[in-house]
Amino acid sequence: VSQIRRDALSDSWVICAPQRDARPEEFVEAQLPGPPVLICPFCGGNESATPEATLVIGDPEANDEVTWAVRVVPNRYPAVTDGDRRLEEGTGASRPSHPDLFQVSPLSGGHEVIIESPLHVQSLTDLSERHAAMVFDAYARRLRYWYGQSGIDYVVVFKNVGAAAGASLRHTHSQLVASSMLPPRVAELSQRVKAHYEREKKCLLCQMLADELGEESRIVARTPRFVAYCPFASRLPYLMRVVPLEHQESFESLETAAIGELAALTRRLLRLLESMHSPAAYNYVIQTRPHRTACSNSFHWWLEIFPRLTKTAGFEWGSDCYINPVLPETAAGHLRILSRRIAPRGDRGVQVDFSG
Ligand SMILES: [Zn+2]
Ligand SMILES: [Zn+2]
Repeated sequence: VSQIRRDALSDSWVICAPQRDARPEEFVEAQLPGPPVLICPFCGGNESATPEATLVIGDPEANDEVTWAVRVVPNRYPAVTDGDRRLEEGTGASRPSHPDLFQVSPLSGGHEVIIESPLHVQSLTDLSERHAAMVFDAYARRLRYWYGQSGIDYVVVFKNVGAAAGASLRHTHSQLVASSMLPPRVAELSQRVKAHYEREKKCLLCQMLADELGEESRIVARTPRFVAYCPFASRLPYLMRVVPLEHQESFESLETAAIGELAALTRRLLRLLESMHSPAAYNYVIQTRPHRTACSNSFHWWLEIFPRLTKTAGFEWGSDCYINPVLPETAAGHLRILSRRIAPRGDRGVQVDFSG
């Protein structure tokens, strides 16, 4: 059972999930007679190597025995688990003399893997625009499912690519974590944007976006519904934020055409990162409104891409303050130039404008 512990000194909470320690690095051994055979559990044909799917999106163009395009399965090594919500008394041999300084709570929820293709491809950019849209549709459907479950206060979709970004399997996939606890940073963010709305009668992100669009230098790309930019105070070099131009509280309520547009834009941005460094290491995260706690007028959802070009080092660990060696204006300019050098590859549907 996962639990969440509070560090009284930093007032930060940590999810303890010892069950994840057993996860394999790359492949699992097939249960076959004879010498061990290594198989990728995410490849089409190896469905028995993963738990039963919670969502399958079929491929209308499939012509052989693998008929799925996107498959969502429970994570075998979950960070958050469902089931027993009781917490065993104590966590070690002795009880602390000041239990309030060693707070611990049970944590429940779910942890799923979104397998983005039956083929052993290693990037979302290897998929067609149409297929990438199916992946984002799976995100939206699972977010709607988990936000419909009682006792779930926070659901996040994210992707880890490359060892430096925490990925343990290469086959292209994303993840979803649903949790009974709203992480304190997200709770504080929700409070901050709510306070801004009450003061200004305007959404904070809408206001920041208007200024970014006016300034132009940090804009990377636009589509009719979205804009991608390197934020004014980016924590990491080449960090990109993708936001809807119109105020929208939640990603999972997007209509199909908008989901396709977002997937196409994200795929194009990831190709820029891959053209800079190969193999690329990055994370992306979709921050959508925590349903029960955040206010819909003030919470504006976004997708953020975190390239892992620098290492988190002593200063960052000690101060929680990041040192970014690349100005976001420089990063955005470089990304716009790169976009002109990359030949289109299966980009038919969505027009992405990199003119800044
Ligand atoms: Zn595979
Ligand atoms: Zn807004």
